[in-house]
Amino acid sequence: AGPVLSDYFQSRHEARGVAFELSANVAAIEADGVRLADGRLIAANTVLVGIGAYADLELAQAAGLECSDGVVVDLDARTSDPAVFAVGDMTHRPLPLYGRSARLESVPSALEQAKQAASALCGRPRPADEVPWFWSDQYELKLQIAGLAWDCDMVVERGDRAADSFALFHLKDGVVRAVEAVNAAPEFMGGRQLIGRQIAVDPARLADASVPMKALLAGPA
Ligand SMILES: Cc1cc2nc3c(=O)[nH]c(=O)nc-3n(C[C@H](O)[C@H](O)[C@H](O)COP(=O)(O)OP(=O)(O)OC[C@H]3O[C@@H](n4cnc5c(N)ncnc54)[C@H](O)[C@@H]3O)c2cc1C
Repeated sequence: AGPVLSDYFQSRHEARGVAFELSANVAAIEADGVRLADGRLIAANTVLVGIGAYADLELAQAAGLECSDGVVVDLDARTSDPAVFAVGDMTHRPLPLYGRSARLESVPSALEQAKQAASALCGRPRPADEVPWFWSDQYELKLQIAGLAWDCDMVVERGDRAADSFALFHLKDGVVRAVEAVNAAPEFMGGRQLIGRQIAVDPARLADASVPMKALLAGPA
């Protein structure tokens, strides 16, 4: 998520009484709570630790598979050993729309790769490339993200942030590369198509919620 979206979600959580301690270092988990490096104790009965994930490559490396922040696979989900396929969070996969490879952690990505592997194993044509997408439901806020906001040079906002229904479009050279949509299903779905079809858009029309997303799919007016 980009900084605008992060700030938005932080404010919505804070409005419901969630306190953030950003850039705080944890010194210890004690009987009464969490001790921060600055000496303060955050009182707690329960501590949930969410510290990200990394790919455990021990098994893959022992099998001689090429690894680079994940098991390297191609568009058939095939590893450097043609007899071994890998899908999901632990793979470093090509992303043709973005001209680079990365390790993605999302259910849709794992499902897409499962289709790639199944097609290759069954001798079927490779499925069409999908636009990566992600979702998260927080309170009454449905966040849907399509694409990856890499190397973008413009952000276009559409909708009403104060009314908790808006979308942030990330553009590169006038083409939408990613959309972050909050309670904005049409923007998410339309944005996903714009990304996949790499259609140039007029930023002013994109920002204008009275212009239907379908009209934008036809290209600049
Ligand atoms: C808290 C949390 C919230 C998430 N929320 C979302 C979300 O909202 N939307 C979304 O798209 N994604 C979400 N994800 C990510 C999503 O869960 C993963 O991207 C997805 O599960 C990846 O599928 P996978 O098959 O690669 O791995 P997994 O689902 O992790 O499956 C791997 C399986 O392999 C098993 N395994 C591991 N090692 C071995 C071994 N040596 N032998 C046999 N079995 C083994 C594991 O037990 C596990 O069952 C979330 C993840 C977390 C942790």
